[in-house]
Amino acid sequence: MKAPRKIMSLIFSILVLYSFSQPVQIPWPEVTDSSNLVDTRSQEINYQVKRTFFFPEIGVNVSNEFTGARLNDLILINDSTLSGFIYPENHPVNMSPWYAFRVWSDSTKDIYFKLQYAHGRHRYLPKLSRDGINWIQIDSTDLFSTVDDTTTFFRIHLNYDAIWISAQEILTSDLTYRWIDRLSRKTFITSNIIGYSTLGKPIMAMSITESDGKNLLVILSRQHPPEIPGFKEMISFVETIAGNSKTARKFRKRFEVVVVPMMNPDGVDNGHWRHNAGGVDLNRDWRFFNQPETTALRKFILAKIQKRNARVHYGIDFHSTQTDLFYLPDEKDLPGGEGISMKLLNSINKSFPENPFTPEPSGIEGQISKNWFLHELKTEAITYEVGDNTDREIIKKRGKEASLQLMKILLKEYK
Ligand SMILES: [Zn+2]
Repeated sequence: MKAPRKIMSLIFSILVLYSFSQPVQIPWPEVTDSSNLVDTRSQEINYQVKRTFFFPEIGVNVSNEFTGARLNDLILINDSTLSGFIYPENHPVNMSPWYAFRVWSDSTKDIYFKLQYAHGRHRYLPKLSRDGINWIQIDSTDLFSTVDDTTTFFRIHLNYDAIWISAQEILTSDLTYRWIDRLSRKTFITSNIIGYSTLGKPIMAMSITESDGKNLLVILSRQHPPEIPGFKEMISFVETIAGNSKTARKFRKRFEVVVVPMMNPDGVDNGHWRHNAGGVDLNRDWRFFNQPETTALRKFILAKIQKRNARVHYGIDFHSTQTDLFYLPDEKDLPGGEGISMKLLNSINKSFPENPFTPEPSGIEGQISKNWFLHELKTEAITYEVGDNTDREIIKKRGKEASLQLMKILLKEYK
């Protein structure tokens, strides 16, 4: 009797050890009511007509003939006021009305713009730029509407130089590809085309590593075109991982960081409010994978895992909303109870008490990237939301600090 008991306890110990070394499996919840699901099959979208509006009565030109523009129509309503119409690519659509256009005049004058949104309300404070690179927020004395109004009304001081007016800074796919190329000059960074968008633009992934590629951190951004503050924080975050700090050098020897900074190039370049060129919110396509952009990322990551017997240890998807917050898995759903997200949040907030992130548990059912990480990759992930109006200098500093803190946490968790 003694020998079998020993064998049984040995088998039991092996099973216990095995189960501890395996990530916890959390499948997608079963579909009991399909009306709770978001259909992510492609739909028709409306393309804006690209044109330059010229109003000889007042000597003013307004154009949407550039990448990232959105202005569907424009009429003169009196000798100093233009009324613009801003439509989404299709609807229903999230309340994130993007607008961007360029104005110039044959003389110095003040012009009032009234923007009317179809299927939306005012959200983004107008940003102005003379060169398309440096942006300032409109002066509060020139803005005559508040968030959630159905229209926006503001005054612009025109002279002979063209001025860009936009919901947020215009940061196109092309600019992102150039950023990737610049970073990829470093010996430890490579970039790959992992697929193509609906309109044939490359979906680029960067790999930052000096490791054996078995431990992965995955970073996404720009599923939603207007979410510029999140994109900016991602840039600072990634540049810190690619930087020369002691922590970064140590981290790269242990981890591989896969970055897909531009998930929705078609939406970004066509000035969409939310969707890709298939008329779909990409961040609802992480369960059924009907769109090429999400499918490309999934295939790339799964192939990496299989080829090297690798594991994704954490995922971050950068976005923007009204305030700074982390959408987290519910505490009870954290695989293995690691709770990396709360550790990260607390350590960032310690350094930025004036601009803290709020934790928002958001369940495990939504068809979003965070839940794909959880259900298919069996790993913890967050939606990292940066406020629409968060100070851009803070964003830069906080992205750096968040990056250093996460590297330290992951190095400690996975020695
Ligand atoms: Zn978003």
